[in-house]
Amino acid sequence: PGLPAALRDAKGSLARAVRSLRAAAPAGSAVQGVDGGLHLLVDALVADVEAHGGEVRTRTRVTEVRPAGDDPTGYEVVLADGAVLRASRLVLATPTTGDLLRPLLAATPEASDGPDDVPGTPADPTDGLDEGAVVTLVTLVLRSTALDAAPRGTGVLVAQEATDVTAKALTHGTAKWPWLARAAGPGRHAVRLSYGRAGDDASAVPADKDALVDLALRDAAVLLGVPLPADAVEGTAVVRWTQALPRPSAAHQAAVTEVRSAAAALPGVAVCGAWAAGNGLASVVPDAQAAARTLL
Ligand SMILES: Cc1cc2nc3c(=O)[nH]c(=O)nc-3n(C[C@H](O)[C@H](O)[C@H](O)COP(=O)(O)OP(=O)(O)OC[C@H]3O[C@@H](n4cnc5c(N)ncnc54)[C@H](O)[C@@H]3O)c2cc1C
Repeated sequence: PGLPAALRDAKGSLARAVRSLRAAAPAGSAVQGVDGGLHLLVDALVADVEAHGGEVRTRTRVTEVRPAGDDPTGYEVVLADGAVLRASRLVLATPTTGDLLRPLLAATPEASDGPDDVPGTPADPTDGLDEGAVVTLVTLVLRSTALDAAPRGTGVLVAQEATDVTAKALTHGTAKWPWLARAAGPGRHAVRLSYGRAGDDASAVPADKDALVDLALRDAAVLLGVPLPADAVEGTAVVRWTQALPRPSAAHQAAVTEVRSAAAALPGVAVCGAWAAGNGLASVVPDAQAAARTLL
């Protein structure tokens, strides 16, 4: 961002323009976090919902959303345990929104004509939605004074062509977030390796936790350029994110537009989430606020 203006100021010199932009935005200055971790925001949100008389059910998968037969403006939400909730307004914010909407869209009169207007061929606006990839995060807590100097700053992204590293990215957490460095104490570091690009061969990432931690430690040593023996590891955590980071291909964008317009025809239904708005909180949050506004 800002390159055309910087180019004008640098009288057309690309090198000078880039240098001035980089000087104005040192590494890490474009990111923000929450002291203590972003999960605190979730806890605060749950507390707020409950204070307003709402209920949050975690570990509760929705398997189906369907019209309430006896109420033309109502919906039924079917849970994995078979329970059925009724609602007059729905916000669908899961990466599986396309699947959940399908029965509702099939029930609308407009759905009876297909994309080629072939009578009786149901259009499926969810065709082309990218599922996203499985992303595995391995966090290592390391005792290593060699890391005090933050040899790679706050982290690195790994080129797909790299042959000596399986990870796609490394974040040096204690170099990135002052609150985390304070919590870890002197000489202790939190380093996070990230695995799984869209389209990757999933078998390259071990399913076994011990093998994954060994791989992460080797990758961390290569990427950080310091020896990291096994006894430097004081703690580990592995988290797998499914359906993460959908790719914004042209087919995906076209399907999102179709799903959004089909959902807009359903009274009391709003859709949002990274699958529609694009990855990252800067896209997801305003989209969610807009979705909520359409229902209020
Ligand atoms: C490893 C990683 C690092 C990232 N780092 C950053 C970052 O630094 N900055 C940034 O801005 N963005 C980052 N992102 C992207 C950001 O996390 C996402 O864009 C954002 O969380 C998407 O929000 P969402 O609400 O659409 O989806 P999610 O946060 O994925 O939430 C969707 C929820 O729906 C639930 N769900 C799915 N199916 C069902 C169902 N059938 N019934 C009920 N619930 C269901 C899921 O369990 C999940 O809780 C990162 C993503 C990943 C994977």
